[in-house]
Amino acid sequence: CGVYGVFAHDEDVSALTYLGLYALQHRGQESAGIAVTDGAWMDVTRGMGLVNEVFRHQVPHMDNQYIAIGHVRYSTTGSSLLQNTQPLIVNYSGGKISLAHNGNLTNAMEIRKKLEDDGTIFQTSIDTEVILNLIARSRKETVEERLADSLNQVKGAYCITLMTENKLIGARDPQGFRPLCLGKLENGWVLSSESCGLDVIGAEFVRDIEPGEMVIIDDSGIKSVHFAPKQQLASCIFEYIYFARPDSVIDGQSVHDARFMMGRILARESKFKGDIVISVPDSGTTAATGYAYEAGIPFVEGLMKNRYIGRTFIQPTQKKRDTAVQLKLNAIRSVVEGKSVIMVDDSIVRGTTSGKIVKMLRNAGAKEVHMCVSSPPIGFPCYYGIDTSVRKELIAAKKSVEEIRQYIEADSLHFLSIEGLKESLTAVNPNNMCYACFNSDYPVEQGKQPEGSGKY
Ligand code: SF4
Ligand code: MG
Repeated sequence: CGVYGVFAHDEDVSALTYLGLYALQHRGQESAGIAVTDGAWMDVTRGMGLVNEVFRHQVPHMDNQYIAIGHVRYSTTGSSLLQNTQPLIVNYSGGKISLAHNGNLTNAMEIRKKLEDDGTIFQTSIDTEVILNLIARSRKETVEERLADSLNQVKGAYCITLMTENKLIGARDPQGFRPLCLGKLENGWVLSSESCGLDVIGAEFVRDIEPGEMVIIDDSGIKSVHFAPKQQLASCIFEYIYFARPDSVIDGQSVHDARFMMGRILARESKFKGDIVISVPDSGTTAATGYAYEAGIPFVEGLMKNRYIGRTFIQPTQKKRDTAVQLKLNAIRSVVEGKSVIMVDDSIVRGTTSGKIVKMLRNAGAKEVHMCVSSPPIGFPCYYGIDTSVRKELIAAKKSVEEIRQYIEADSLHFLSIEGLKESLTAVNPNNMCYACFNSDYPVEQGKQPEGSGKY
């Protein structure tokens, strides 16, 4: 998911949030929402679909609005339903609160069960709603103390933007799984999952929110509180591999530069010498350019992507994903015909896309297809907000590299090593990262995950 927030007088904060969400669209395409306040009331518009679909007719607007938060959703918990869209809005004894959350709480089911046994009713099936209930039940006085109280009870991954009638608050979990950064407008402040969401509205990047930090923005300015003791950091390496946009900078590390290095190191490790390097657009492109650079083999466009289709992976059911691949990509015969092709992609998750693309290239006349993947095999589920949560769907959970190669019918297959992946990070400490989906070294208890489709 992607979260956003703007606090600014004399700005159209909901329109700015719309633009910010547009830039964060790659983080979630199932639903979108914007909530605004004018200091007394709150309004929200939420809907299923892309940002430009949900807000086609109207972006929520109030006279004198000065705080807005927004959310784009990619479901890892809770079904993809209108009822589960964010930002959530509630009234509690202290006033009104609206909340947007990116990540996945690992003990939400436990807490929810306790609260339900106690008579609490929930309006959604998403983990996020427990944060609100814990705020409402806290005995602390201010909203920031109540939020800290709440966040100290939940575990797992969360970046949140929260607003009351007069405050905008941002918080990042103590491990720093997901990114969140702070930007400055001439007369206000912005919070965004990624820095590309600041660039789009001309906000100046100030800094990343630190793991375990909460920033509180109101008319008296901005203040920062560390709500949790320092812990071993575990930022999600998959943000750099696949999820984030290459023009974003997370914790000081350019996503593009990390991905480019992944490609370069992959070329060194795999040592394949083909005629051409192609990428599986768009997510494989940066690594493919790095591969070509390192190997001294030309990077060419061998696959054309239909620009009017979103991220296929994010389609929540397998059937939808299947048709989407064919609709999304096509091989360029004149480029690949008779060639030994090195095809670079960022990851193999289920193997559905890769197998289809290899076939597509062969049908277009490729002589050989060597697949190079700029991440290690994903053998273990993610419990922290990336939708690889069901182990039986992960091809590397059951098959060896050679078996995957046979399954996708490639001439050869190479994955980037974990060491190579670590080496690709030049501006952040590679030891402060989570690699659990590759090595099962889970930084935070995984919690109870329901069997089934990764949803509850
Ligand atoms: Fe990221 Fe993988 Fe860790 Fe999940 S398990 S947070 S995808 S590195
Ligand atoms: Mg891709």
